[in-house]
Amino acid sequence: MQKLKKERIKILGAYGTRGINKGTSSILLNSKRVIDAGNLLEALREESVMIEEIWLTHSHLDHIVDIAYIIDNYFTKRIKSLKIMGLPQTLKALKEHFLNDAIWPDFSIIKMAIGDENVIEYIPIETGKKYKVSENESIEAFTSDHTVASCGYIYERNNSRILIGTDTYSLDNYIDILENNHDIKSCILECSFSNEMEILAKASKHLTPKLLFQQLQKLQRDDLLIYINHIKPIYEEKIIAQIEQYKGKWQVKIIKDGFFLTF
Ligand SMILES: [Zn+2]
Ligand SMILES: [Zn+2]
Repeated sequence: MQKLKKERIKILGAYGTRGINKGTSSILLNSKRVIDAGNLLEALREESVMIEEIWLTHSHLDHIVDIAYIIDNYFTKRIKSLKIMGLPQTLKALKEHFLNDAIWPDFSIIKMAIGDENVIEYIPIETGKKYKVSENESIEAFTSDHTVASCGYIYERNNSRILIGTDTYSLDNYIDILENNHDIKSCILECSFSNEMEILAKASKHLTPKLLFQQLQKLQRDDLLIYINHIKPIYEEKIIAQIEQYKGKWQVKIIKDGFFLTF
């Protein structure tokens, strides 16, 4: 039987790079939990103090940058350490190249203003393993195809699931999951560049409207709502026009900062 009440999540940042009034990848799952940290400070402001877990898709700047700023701005207000969840390679990159005392403080060895815990804690995760994160929620990572180690997530709440993709070139793994899990009725897929920029898309392992919808032809089903994110703001108009042109049978919604997605 079709569930009547739909679950929803909030997009804090929808774009593939920071533009004027355009935030980069972040999705608020609930008041304690986000996927990626591209746009937490501006979107959440003081509510960012409540965030306890950041589930990272990969180590690129547009997905991690606000880890630095939410800690700094609300340092004295935080009462729990911030758990940075991610693939081992992602966490290694953060430790070595970002929160390394050279670029920004190593908060994993700094105590919070209140209590005895360190400001952040790194927690490695595995793909293909379902993590129960609360009474009614779970999160499972799956491998994505990008220039660095990368994963998307299947987020489940009250038995409804959404596939939350990230930066990728190949959709093979995504298609396998969607074909084998017909209960997943919504997914977020990236589309970074316009069709003319296919060479750059391939080199940087991203998608264009043409590459995206060509690959989706492999899917046997069509009962899927496709949310599209990670558009480079400067080409937004062109990419949206090309998505319209190439989307075929698919029901597509382009997402923007502040949107709520139902699943
Ligand atoms: Zn990105
Ligand atoms: Zn990336």
